[in-house]
Amino acid sequence: MTINTKHELVDKLYQTSNLSFDEYAELIKKRDEETAKYLFSLSQKRREEYYGNDVYIRGLIEFTNYCKNDCYYCGIRRSNANVSRYRLLLPDIMQCCHEGCELGFRTFVLQGGEDPYFNDDRICEIVSSIKKEYPDCAVTLSIGEKSRESYLRYFQAGADRFLLRHETADYNHYAKLHPADHSWTRRRECLRCLKDLKEIGYQVGTGFMVGSPYQTAENLASDMLFLQSLKPAMVGIGPFIAHKDTPFADKASGTLELTLFMIGLIRLSLPYALIPATTALGTIAPNGRELGIKAGANVLMPNLSPVEVRKKYMLYDNKICTGEESAQCIQCLAHRVESTGCKIKISRGDVCKSYTQNNI
Ligand code: SAH
Repeated sequence: MTINTKHELVDKLYQTSNLSFDEYAELIKKRDEETAKYLFSLSQKRREEYYGNDVYIRGLIEFTNYCKNDCYYCGIRRSNANVSRYRLLLPDIMQCCHEGCELGFRTFVLQGGEDPYFNDDRICEIVSSIKKEYPDCAVTLSIGEKSRESYLRYFQAGADRFLLRHETADYNHYAKLHPADHSWTRRRECLRCLKDLKEIGYQVGTGFMVGSPYQTAENLASDMLFLQSLKPAMVGIGPFIAHKDTPFADKASGTLELTLFMIGLIRLSLPYALIPATTALGTIAPNGRELGIKAGANVLMPNLSPVEVRKKYMLYDNKICTGEESAQCIQCLAHRVESTGCKIKISRGDVCKSYTQNNI
């Protein structure tokens, strides 16, 4: 494929927000520095058209590292006996929100393992307490697969958004990342969940890991088509990073380069999307999140969990969690964002109007 053909594919994506499976796979396989540069010039432009130079911040509260699942890639999987498990209870969570609100956060993301202790009553109590105390703030949940009734209850309690990464859109690949007991059926479950969440009225986020074991360019092309059909409000992607106490301990991690390229593609295919420059991106490279913004991302999710539990939410090795990336160092973060030509916007940072109006 010549540079021109690659540029033509990028142009086509910019103009139509669509490529075919073969076109995505070709572009991903044949990408090079020159193509990436061209892609980022357009993905930045597109982000500016929809969101100006605003970057939204979300306070991430990792409220439990107990998990009933055993995903091969994840450091807090139930079989990892080396994890010191913790839970934050309502007063701890409210304290995080209090601190977050003072720092300028207007969205709180409650993320955790799938912990049966947090039944629907407890989740609803947490959500409604936050909404009561901070009515101007949005609450995002990232707590895995639940029944439609449960999702409905959280929504009625005030939850605004829900993040549930599909991890990979390819059935066979999915089965390689998860134990047999939750491969095929769970994969269908995840699609059911995303559909339910959307129908209930959440702003829905999904996403995948880049460079997860056994992933091919074709798998990534499937992910792109999946996103094109689901049209989520948010898409979170980050490089896979091995965790030493998992079955994938020896697997190679995803690269900065491919993750940035995928961010660029996602910005062009879903121009209105909220796309975080993730912690995993900041972990594989010190300036990973700045580069993510330059590739088209427009959200940062600094850690707002109490410092003493942060090291216990180790999804992967060396996860950054105590330095400049944390919510407390919002000034450092602001400088980093400014270095990209963008600026932090203090607001709930909902998905842009053109998305809601078309109700896609
Ligand atoms: N239990 C919740 C939250 C999961 S943690 C849920 O099921 O939605 C959030 C995300 O971290 C996961 O969806 C996964 O994509 C990512 N993650 C987990 N392990 C990882 C690893 N080793 N490297 C990179 N990302 C990882």
